[in-house]
This record gives sequence, structure tokens and C-alpha cells, in this order.
Amino acid sequence: METLSNKPERFVRPEIRQLVPYESKHLPECIKLDANENPFPWPAGMREELFPEKLAFNRYPDGMAQDLKKAIATYTKTQPEGILVGNGSDELIQLILMTFGGLGKSVIIHPPTFSMYQIAARLTDTTVVQVPLLQGLELDTEEMLKTALSPDAHVMIVCNPNNPTGSLFPREEILRLVRESGKIVVVDEAYAEFSEETLIPQIENYPNLVILRTFSKAFGMAGLRVGYLLGQPETISLINRVRQPFNVNSFSQKVGILALGYVQEYHEQIQQIKAETQKLYEGLTQIPNVVVYPTKANFILFKPGDPDGWTEKLLKRGFLVRNMGDLPALGKCLRISAGLPEENEGFLRAIREISAGA
Ligand SMILES: *Cc1c(COP(=O)(O)O)cnc(C)c1O
Repeated sequence: METLSNKPERFVRPEIRQLVPYESKHLPECIKLDANENPFPWPAGMREELFPEKLAFNRYPDGMAQDLKKAIATYTKTQPEGILVGNGSDELIQLILMTFGGLGKSVIIHPPTFSMYQIAARLTDTTVVQVPLLQGLELDTEEMLKTALSPDAHVMIVCNPNNPTGSLFPREEILRLVRESGKIVVVDEAYAEFSEETLIPQIENYPNLVILRTFSKAFGMAGLRVGYLLGQPETISLINRVRQPFNVNSFSQKVGILALGYVQEYHEQIQQIKAETQKLYEGLTQIPNVVVYPTKANFILFKPGDPDGWTEKLLKRGFLVRNMGDLPALGKCLRISAGLPEENEGFLRAIREISAGA
């Protein structure tokens, strides 16, 4: 029997009471343009190479992910001691804030940006300080530096290229934040394979620089949950203290290692995805009364007159897009990522029909 006094609600942490669970749409029958994934199948031969592998699933995984770290070190031209692997970068964002944030500390973010930063802050009792992008698109470096003067400010997160806007910030601006704030500056480079811009070579110069990467986007492994952090070994070993011992399963570790043996094939996919993104961009700019924002990633943010109506009409035609809601300084926008060539053509046809009033 449930009485007022035994309701679990009574015991819930206050910061959890206000949280709304992140519910992503799962509609596998749709053409998925909503989650910035790689639409192509894995490079030829990768699956075939994976399945004969003798993975001991009755054993715990390598908690240190040594072989995967070695492969990532080769790919990023860094050292394994400067790498920490996580169950998607979502876990890593949380680990960073568990390590450097917490009660009485704050994290500086630049809305509109990736929503997981706020969620991780809430879970770790870290205060969020927002320094909105100028015109919704550009880094307000001066204001971020001013905000970082507070002794409570411990972490700053820069998403580059930024999700959902697609903008790439000037590297000198980010390096200024790293140099002049002196705080832990996390640069989320989830889309770096598309922007072909990275601050990895700067890690050796700055002990407070941490870079976040993922296998979820360019490497087409969103379903396997593998991300990684790069930083100086001292920083990595601090974050490593709060990591769960077996946070990345052995299957995912193995696929990560295999994928890094197909870098050339992925590079070709990435070039195709970039070309498809460009086609979508040009197609969208030709639709009347639609604002389209330039992008350096595999997705595009755009603002039609009636975002909610368009989302619904696109879904009726089988296209799943991301309705971003009302974004600071930009208003109500939609975000799409590049699909397969024929999917993108279908999407542009659908958009033209919808725009014409169908
Ligand atoms: C998709 C995305 C990630 C990756 O998250 P995973 O947990 O590794 O799948 C990280 N940061 C940003 C900004 C993203 O858009």
C-alpha cells in the first residue's frame, strides 16, 4: 500500500526532482536526420573482421582499455597516458564535472549548445553559468573571461564546431580562453573529423586544456557508446579517479580498435558526408523565407516560418528531424544531419512541397 510517508518521491534529491528525463525519439522505420549520425554502413570488411574475433564475454573487459588507448594514441598522435575512454562522451562530461565541479562550483557554457552539459551539471550539483553566443553564433570571449574571474568557476566548455549551430570558433579565441581564464577548458570536438580542425597539438602547452572526442559521429558507432578525453597525463589521472572500473564494454573496445584500422575508408565517407551536407545547405537556401546557418559539421541548423508544423509534415513523409525549440537569440529552429544521397534528395523534395503549402 502506498501512503504519503512511503512514497519514493519523498526521498529524492532536490536537484533530481526538477530533472526531466532525456527522451530521444526512437523511430527506426523513419529516415533519421535527427541525431547527426553517420548514415553509411561501416567500411567494407569491418563487420567481417569483427565477427570471428574471440571475445571472452564471460570475462570483465580491460578496465584500462589499453589496446584501444594505443590505437587512439596513434590516430590522434598523442600518448596513451593522455587518454581516458568513456561510455560515450556523455559519460565523460559527467566525469569531468564530478572531478572539477560539484557543490559551490560552476561550469561556464555558451548557449545555444549541446544539452548534455546542463544535465551533467545538474547531476553533479555544479552551477551552470551561461554566456550566450553573440547573435546566437559567435563566442563572446570577453564575457566568458569576465565570468571566469569568479573563484567558483572551475570549468568552461566550448563546443567546436558547436552543436546545434554548426559554427566553428576561431582557434585563437579558444586558445585565449585557455590561456587567460586559467580554468579547466573542455573543448568538445565531437565533429572534428568533419571540420578538420583540432586543438589536440596544443595539449602539451596547456595543462588546463581537455579535449573531448567520440566514435559516435564520423565513425558510425553511436550505438556502441565510445568516447574519449585527451589531456595532459596529470589531468587524465585525476579524472580517472572517478571513472567506474569497467565503464567501456569489451565489444565496443574491440570495434573502436578495428575502426581505427579503416581511417582511409572513413575519410572517404567523411568527404561524401561533407559534400551531401553542402548539397542540403544549398537546397535549403533556395527555399523562400528560410534562414540557413553555415556549418562546419555534418548537420545544418535552419529556421523555417513554422518549425513545429514542418516537423510534423516531415514526419508524415517519413523524415525525422530535430526540433530544437526556441534557441537563445536565434528563435525556433530545426536541425538536420546529412543522410544517404537519395535520402537527402527526398528530404529536399519534401521541404519544397511543404514550403509550397502541401
Ligand atoms: C553527439 C555529441 C557528442 C557525442 O556523444 P556520445 O555520448 O559520445 O555519443 C558529444 N558532444 C556533442 C556536442 C555531440 O553533439
